[in-house]
Amino acid sequence: MICPNLQCQAILAVPVTARGKTIRCSGCGTTIRVPAGTGKPADSGAATKQS
Ligand SMILES: [Zn+2]
Repeated sequence: MICPNLQCQAILAVPVTARGKTIRCSGCGTTIRVPAGTGKPADSGAATKQS
């Protein structure tokens, strides 16, 4: 993911274990919240279709 700091915009390697947590950019020190389930959106609408 890319640092949201427009003055930085460093590309950060986020490990899977960091999802749903907050990381700190090594470039500018900005704390960034990593969204959980990146790349695989959890659609609750599909889950309700089981019943
Ligand atoms: Zn940064």
